[in-house]
Amino acid sequence: MQVYWIKINKIIQESSEVRTYLLDCPQDFTWEEGSHTHFALKGFNIGDKPNRSLIRHMSISTLPDEGAIGITTRIREQCSEFKAILKSLKVGNEVAIFKTHSNVPLKREGKNVYLLSSGVGLATFRPLVLDYLKRPDNVNRLHSLNIDSSKEFLFSNVFQSAPDRDFTSQFVDNRKDYYEQVKKLATDNDGLYYVVGSDEFLVQNIEILREQGIKSEQIVIDKHEEQRAEFLSVDLSNKGLG
Ligand SMILES: Cc1cc2nc3c(=O)[nH]c(=O)nc-3n(C[C@H](O)[C@H](O)[C@H](O)COP(=O)(O)OP(=O)(O)OC[C@H]3O[C@@H](n4cnc5c(N)ncnc54)[C@H](O)[C@@H]3O)c2cc1C
Repeated sequence: MQVYWIKINKIIQESSEVRTYLLDCPQDFTWEEGSHTHFALKGFNIGDKPNRSLIRHMSISTLPDEGAIGITTRIREQCSEFKAILKSLKVGNEVAIFKTHSNVPLKREGKNVYLLSSGVGLATFRPLVLDYLKRPDNVNRLHSLNIDSSKEFLFSNVFQSAPDRDFTSQFVDNRKDYYEQVKKLATDNDGLYYVVGSDEFLVQNIEILREQGIKSEQIVIDKHEEQRAEFLSVDLSNKGLG
């Protein structure tokens, strides 16, 4: 396993609680849109076993052609040890990343793609939207719906509807509006539905999508195959994986 120790290049305060850490990009490192990585702090690999309290899964909120690895996260007043240390880090300090993989690349199957997210989950979708806007090939149209009760909506320069480019971006600040909107979107029975947020958020969205007749193969979540099957209650033995 290759661990990349890299410097923080810039820290962007996206909203009162959300920051993006732009990390130097090693020359031999690249990634697909929708990737997540293991993001670790100094000391995580000192003992016999990796210290999990110094490691978190994080999505990469940038594309390789932006020249930096972006990690976007919410740091509340009451936060974990991990976030407290992260908050104290400055430009020039080193962090580590390893085991990077995308479960949610943009599927180019000629369909309408719906990106459903909660809060900072939008970070996972930022590179998908940029990739689509650069090259819309084989994506019929793209629609993002994000719920953020803080009302401080993220990445508003990227998540801006562009009707001429078949991209729609919607932000809502409450669950009622959010789920009403999901039900409306799910009337498209041939679309692909990406969902990113807490596990509870995934469960609720999957339930509503299924109620509207959306099949599990149309739902894309940021989980590896086995976990995905559990969330979607798919029988892996039928696919030779069980
Ligand atoms: C594939 C994948 C991708 C992910 N991508 C991202 C990403 O891009 N960005 C991201 O931010 N997260 C992402 N996550 C989630 C991430 O790994 C962390 O689980 C998440 O950020 C919470 O971090 P934390 O445990 O350090 O807790 P915190 O964020 O610090 O806290 C979680 C909650 O507990 C409360 N809390 C914590 N400590 C205390 C305390 N001492 N007293 C009272 N309340 C407390 C906080 O207020 C908060 O509500 C991803 C997860 C996966 C699996």
